Amino acid sequence: MPIRLFNTYSRALEEFRPLDPAGRVVKMYTCGPTVYSHAHIGNFRAYLFEDLLQRHLESRGFQVRRVMNITDVDDKTIRGSREASVPLAEFTSGFKKAFFDDLDTLRIKRADSFPEATDPREIAKMIEMIGTLIERGLAYQAEDKSVYFRINKFPDYGKLAHFNVEELRSTGRVKSDEYDKEHIGDFALWKAWDEADGAVKWESPWGDGRPGWHIECSAMATQLLGDELDIHCGGVDNIFPHHEAEIAQTEGCTGKKFVRYWMHCAHLMVEGQKMAKSLGNFYTLRDVIAKGYSGREVRYALMRVHYRAPLNFTWEGMEEARQALGRIDDWLERLRAHASETKTTEAPSSKLQAPEKLQAPNEESRGFHEELDDDLNISGALGVLFETIRETNRRMDAAEMGAEEAKAWLEWWKSVDGVLRISGEQAELPAEILQLAEARVQARLAKDWRKSDELRDELAARGWEARDTKDGQKITRRGGT
Ligand code: AMP
Ligand code: ZN
Repeated sequence: MPIRLFNTYSRALEEFRPLDPAGRVVKMYTCGPTVYSHAHIGNFRAYLFEDLLQRHLESRGFQVRRVMNITDVDDKTIRGSREASVPLAEFTSGFKKAFFDDLDTLRIKRADSFPEATDPREIAKMIEMIGTLIERGLAYQAEDKSVYFRINKFPDYGKLAHFNVEELRSTGRVKSDEYDKEHIGDFALWKAWDEADGAVKWESPWGDGRPGWHIECSAMATQLLGDELDIHCGGVDNIFPHHEAEIAQTEGCTGKKFVRYWMHCAHLMVEGQKMAKSLGNFYTLRDVIAKGYSGREVRYALMRVHYRAPLNFTWEGMEEARQALGRIDDWLERLRAHASETKTTEAPSSKLQAPEKLQAPNEESRGFHEELDDDLNISGALGVLFETIRETNRRMDAAEMGAEEAKAWLEWWKSVDGVLRISGEQAELPAEILQLAEARVQARLAKDWRKSDELRDELAARGWEARDTKDGQKITRRGGT
């Protein structure tokens, strides 16, 4: 069964095929955090949806190359650093670190790279792109010295968000206080320095200033992944103006189709409203952990609803997540006990003997991974999981399952948990060990063997052993199994 994904651009389910002629490599860009405070769990809903997507594609044999940017200069970060009376880089560095810690807590796989907007290499790329847009008549410097994109010169502007540029004036979706612009919808590529920016500025052919948020993503995406991407993700609030602007800027420079599949997740809600910093109705991950929940419980609670359906955050929902994971833990414990039994009591003729068969109690039903092939149908996939648990528990109750079958189910679970990452074992690792372990995975991905060995030694010094198996890195207590 092919993988089908809902493309915001076409508003339709499309069969997924990457640009790579071999059909293997997937280039994926995901808008990352603005590091002016701790990310809230609404943000993490978006990052968890992207994690599920990446892990599912990998389970289907794709090699995902993912970039997630860090927005470390914009209005909010500048305001924050001014209010805290510390330089911008110092102000953002604590939130960057906290963001990576939170990713680990939620077991979100690290992207291959996390470019930062203030990196001189990225700023240079932004300036180069803005220069190209001006040369082509797609951008202009206004009297206020800022440079704007001329949306009237880009006929496709509005195609992603599905609205007509002429409607902009009446919808109030863009600010109308910038009188220097030719069109109310023209957006800033380069913001001229003003006093409120303090020491935050870069030189450019248009004078000192700083990049606009949208060009940051266009530059970082193309710098690291090339002119054409397979998948670009974010929350629905990113569709307009952010992603619409990314298309205009990038295609305006390259003349090529920027993104093949645009994917957006619906919001995490609180009592009917979007969870947002500006509304003050948010929880950070730390808030939820402080209430006694674990990272994997939050992971499960935020992942269990289809990414395109709004998800209401409630404490009852957290309790349900806890119970669901408890059921999985109990089931695994039983299976393990069965798998280590020596006597075989299974009924060889049973139609449930092989895990694949169990996924298909009737002809039409699909397996766990097939459900996810269908636009990440997580409800369907979890339905298969819990139906499997119910049915195999029944077989264990009836003493119909022997060691071989239990082992087969544990193997099946491995492939399921490779995508969900909700098994209990990792939760037992202390946070600092988890962090070292994750850093070692990253070092190995980067083929930095020296660092990998150093981290192995560091783990060993703390009483943990890192082993590299065909299923990836395994961390165990030294002397344990
Ligand atoms: P920001 O730091 O505001 O740029 O947001 C980072 C990511 O989180 C973006 O992809 C947003 O679309 C997403 N996001 C923000 N608020 C929510 C929410 N309440 N639910 C889901 N995603 C969100
Ligand atoms: Zn972005």
